[in-house]
Amino acid sequence: MNDLENEEKPKNERSVHVAEPAMTAAAMNGVAAAAALQSVFQRVNQAAEKAGRVSDQIRVVAVSKTKPISMVRQVYDAGHRSFGENYVQEIIEKAPQLPEDIEWHFIGNLQSNKVKPLLTGVPNLKMVESVDDEKIANMLDRVVGNIGRKPLKVLVQVNTSGEESKFGVEPSGCVGLAKHVKEACSNLVFSGLMTIGMADYTSTPENFKMLAKCRSEVCKELGIPEEQCELSMGMSGDFELAIELGSTNVRIGSTIFGAREYPKKK
Ligand SMILES: *Cc1c(COP(=O)(O)O)cnc(C)c1O
Repeated sequence: MNDLENEEKPKNERSVHVAEPAMTAAAMNGVAAAAALQSVFQRVNQAAEKAGRVSDQIRVVAVSKTKPISMVRQVYDAGHRSFGENYVQEIIEKAPQLPEDIEWHFIGNLQSNKVKPLLTGVPNLKMVESVDDEKIANMLDRVVGNIGRKPLKVLVQVNTSGEESKFGVEPSGCVGLAKHVKEACSNLVFSGLMTIGMADYTSTPENFKMLAKCRSEVCKELGIPEEQCELSMGMSGDFELAIELGSTNVRIGSTIFGAREYPKKK
């Protein structure tokens, strides 16, 4: 039997196997990611139900950092549209290779000189979740105006764990920054608050409660209803707790895409 015969009429399992192109590792991982996303949705539903909340008020942002385009594509093909990245270089490389109806969330620390490449490179950027000072808010506002894109949704990142390694305004500064965005940045839409809890989870409930408290203060001060102020909190290890404590936006990477591998530092 030659290969051609094999291809045309597979006779047994082995010849079928030989005839079909091997699935690449990335494509296989993509299938696993789409399945993992389904189970994340089940867990989101359960957590929402437990808290007496409606799960369609909770957005799942699939955090695809370090993961290949092909995997993002499989999760997209499974119907998902919200994706998150935390490095400008990576999102501006990936976004143009993926469908335009993806709603990208930028969730990483943003430097002033990266604002223009981010906004011009990702026209379908839906939200910047990591605004942590007036300078970066002003820069985003100016560049949105200059390039003439539609107003950009932003969240104010709050450092609720007090760790020096974390970005974000102090909780006491959240009202001031939110007010600045709402009142001085006409091209930005103040949309809520974001936090990353303590990495070892020791104070996660307190961190999440702190963000909810910040929201109460911000809404009172700005005169906006709490439903118009999102809480972005909860990652792979703590998203169910975050939902119980009011999260409207969970950012989930490794539980969907698998553990990340970073090149070893020399
Ligand atoms: C990487 C990252 C996530 C996702 O982390 P996982 O633990 O893999 O779910 C969420 N938020 C931010 C800001 C991140 O950088």
